[in-house]
Amino acid sequence: MTNQYIGRFAPSPTGRLHAGSLAAALASFIDARAHHGQWLIRIEDVDTGRCKKEWADDILQTLSALQMHSDGEVIWQSKRIDRYTNVLNQLIESGKAYGCSCTRLEIEKANKALGLKPNHYPGTCRTGAKGAIRSWRFLTNHEKVTFTDRWLGEYSQDVETEVGDFVIKRADGLFAYQLAVVIDDHDCGVTDIVRGADLIDNTPRQIALMRTLDWNEPRYMHIPLVLNDRHEKLSKQAGARPLGNDLMLELVHAWRHLGFEEIRADSFEAFYQEASLQWANRFL
Ligand code: GLU
Repeated sequence: MTNQYIGRFAPSPTGRLHAGSLAAALASFIDARAHHGQWLIRIEDVDTGRCKKEWADDILQTLSALQMHSDGEVIWQSKRIDRYTNVLNQLIESGKAYGCSCTRLEIEKANKALGLKPNHYPGTCRTGAKGAIRSWRFLTNHEKVTFTDRWLGEYSQDVETEVGDFVIKRADGLFAYQLAVVIDDHDCGVTDIVRGADLIDNTPRQIALMRTLDWNEPRYMHIPLVLNDRHEKLSKQAGARPLGNDLMLELVHAWRHLGFEEIRADSFEAFYQEASLQWANRFL
């Protein structure tokens, strides 16, 4: 065990917390606690079109009611645009990012002609934008990214062939999640990322960015998703049921979802203490 550990929970305020985001909050919080580390909260409101301040406030209130307190000031991505701009410029200057003029339709057409997957970027503007620059892309290389997930085991992706040069600043002028998350985790010294398994196919893109920036790579743990009755991932945007008033009951469900023994506790503190012991037995 080490006290160097820094973890985080990074919700996007596109709705209130639901069972899925609670499981991610709880797993990241308990992993930090089991390591005697720090746990930070970051509001990922970089996508200003989809995020609302009232949802961010609601999420923070719920975390506070759950007695999950950040060990540092809460970070708001919307306040970090200058920092993202600096890193983007650094990537452009070092030839690791380039301007792209392609529209979605042009990308689809080029992929079809080349027999590539529709969401892949075919590299059209690698040799220079073909018109006015719309977005900025990260220049991928052919090195396969492999990492060992603490829950799911080894995971590999060749980002260049499977995804292509991905957008780091979007055509609508907003910074992409992929870039913001990497800069924030680096600036906060995050050593451990615990989050939902839906994000695992983003992780190689984020690692590719970190390697290019010569930044330390954190350890990753992608936890099982909570599904609804139709076996779809719960999502705030798709209107997943927000947490009920009985937060202890919600914690009990989240803990069961993570596959641990049931905890009966009369306070959040007692719950987290027992949860940390069970967690340490399984993962540390
Ligand atoms: N903001 C993302 C979400 O709410 C999580 C990002 C992350 O943990 O890296 O799904």
